[in-house]
Amino acid sequence: MYLISNREMLKKAQREGYAVPAFNVHNLETVQVVVETAAALRSPVILAGTPGTFTYAGTDYLVSICQEAAHLHDLPLALHLDHHEKLDDIRAKVTAGVRSVMIDGSHFAFEENIRTVAEVVRLCQRYDVSVEAELGRLGGQEDDLNVDSADSFFTDPAAAREFVQRTGIDSLAVAIGSAHGLYHGEPHLDFARLAEVRKAVDIPLVLHGASGIPEHMVREAIGLGICKVNVATDLKIAFADAVKSYFTEHPDANDPRKYITPGKQAMREVVEEKIRICGSEGKL
Ligand code: 13P
Repeated sequence: MYLISNREMLKKAQREGYAVPAFNVHNLETVQVVVETAAALRSPVILAGTPGTFTYAGTDYLVSICQEAAHLHDLPLALHLDHHEKLDDIRAKVTAGVRSVMIDGSHFAFEENIRTVAEVVRLCQRYDVSVEAELGRLGGQEDDLNVDSADSFFTDPAAAREFVQRTGIDSLAVAIGSAHGLYHGEPHLDFARLAEVRKAVDIPLVLHGASGIPEHMVREAIGLGICKVNVATDLKIAFADAVKSYFTEHPDANDPRKYITPGKQAMREVVEEKIRICGSEGKL
């Protein structure tokens, strides 16, 4: 069983009106939890890694772990490059086995974003790799990516049409008010804008920063064309809180197989919940 691109996964989600959850993974344990849960619920799933995660875990280790997980569970899996920015880095990871890429040129001006993304699309087409790109700019923090809310801006629907036509991307990450990391107060999503973007382009749309967004809002966004829902922070918090509680109750604990187990269970519950919200259960 191979690591696959997310192209067909997202097209099916678009046709059938659900979203594929993309979970940020960091190590063996996060991969195990996400893949075991997705397999049990027969849900398609995307395993995402930021550049920082690949540096931390090692590209070959991460690719091997994910390939083994796909094989063990007989599950087509997409290992996805989340917020990657450098062509050479993407090329190296594609040749290491990755088949799903996000090139993030959202910090560039429009023309430079198009040039950068189109170059990655040209590379990826040769390897049958799917490409996601972002137009507009999300605020918040994810790993080394930190965007002040003053620098964030929403996706313009007319620009989105031109962006998709000129780059040839497979999916578009939209900026409609979600942010990476924790929200201070209730998030506000611009659903009217999302509907306009949906009318302007016909490829699957991606919601970043889904941690902390209330269920009804995520569902509404899926109803308006979101086909991929990115989750990182909710998993990290669940894991860290459960491990902290374990140490509070067992201050002398030192066996990682024991103190990591409640963290894995807490992540499992988050993964189950997100799959339910995305409507992807049974969609394999
Ligand atoms: P959160 O950490 O807010 O869930 O965002 C994840 C994300 O969008 C990954 O690209």
